[in-house]
Amino acid sequence: TPEDLVFAKELARRVSLSMENARLYREAQEAVRLRDEFMSIASHELKTPLTPLKLKLQALSRELGRYPGPIPREVVTKYLEVGDLQIKKLTELVDELLDVSRIASGRLSLDLQRLELAPLVREVMAQHELQARRAGSTLELDVGAVPVVGEWDRLRLEQVVMNLVDNAVKYGRGNPIQVRLVPVEGGVHLVVRDEGIGIAPESLPRLFGRFERAVSERNYGGLGLGLYITRMLVEAMGGRVRVESTLGKGSTFTVELACHPLGGEVGATTASME
Ligand code: ADP
Repeated sequence: TPEDLVFAKELARRVSLSMENARLYREAQEAVRLRDEFMSIASHELKTPLTPLKLKLQALSRELGRYPGPIPREVVTKYLEVGDLQIKKLTELVDELLDVSRIASGRLSLDLQRLELAPLVREVMAQHELQARRAGSTLELDVGAVPVVGEWDRLRLEQVVMNLVDNAVKYGRGNPIQVRLVPVEGGVHLVVRDEGIGIAPESLPRLFGRFERAVSERNYGGLGLGLYITRMLVEAMGGRVRVESTLGKGSTFTVELACHPLGGEVGATTASME
C-alpha cells in the first residue's frame, strides 16, 4: 500500500542516517585515540632528554665540590657538551610541535626566493656526515650535470631535505644512503633512497599524516611529525612528496618540485599556507 511505501522509505532513510552516525562516531573515536596516543608519545619524548640533562648537571655540581680552586676547563666542557646535545634534541621536538600548530592555524608563512638546489642539498648532507658515519652509513650524492633553480623557501627546503636524510640515517640500518637530483619536464625530483628497515604496506597510506608512527615498538624515538611537516612544506611550495618501500629492504622518498630555467632576477616573495 502507499502507506507501506512511505514507511519503507522512512525506515531506509533512518537506517542510512544511523549508519552515517555510526561512521562519524567511529572516526571521532579514532581521532581521540590517535590524539591520546600522541600525547603519551610526546610526553615521553620530551621527558627523555631531561634525564641525562639532570644527571649531568648533578654530576657537574659534584665535580665543583671536589675542586678547591677553579675547575679544569676540560671537565666543564665534557658536561656542557652532553647538556648541549640534549637541549638540541628538546629544541627540535618543540620546533616540530610549533610547526604543527602553525600549520593547523594557517600561520606558517614562506619566504620564497630564487635558489639553486644542489648546493643546498650538499650543505644539508655535509651536516649529516658525522651522524651517518656514526650509524655506519655512507651518504652518496648525485646532483646531475645541469644546475636546478627554483623559487623556494631556503630554510623550509633545508628542513625537508634534513627530515628525509635524518630518517634515512635513523632507519637505514647502517647501509649506504643515496640522494639524487633528477631533472624532469618543468621540475626536479629529489630522491632519497635507503636500504634500511623499510615500511609495511599497511603503514604507507598514513605515513604522511599527523601523529602517525609506523614503528609500533618504540625503539627509534621521535614524534612521528617529521613526514607530516615535510608533506605540508613541500605542498606549500607547490610540490608533492611520495614514498615507495619494501619491508626489510628499504625506502625511497621522492620530492617533486617545480623549477624554472636558469637566469632572471633573484627576487623574494612571500606566501602563506592558508
Ligand atoms: P619520526 O620522528 O617518528 O621519525 P616521521 O614523521 O619522520 O617521524 O616518520 C614517521 C614514521 O615513518 C616513522 O616513525 C617511521 O616508522 C617511518 N619512516 C620514516 N622514514 C622512514 C625510512 N626511511 N625507513 C623506514 N621507516 C621510515
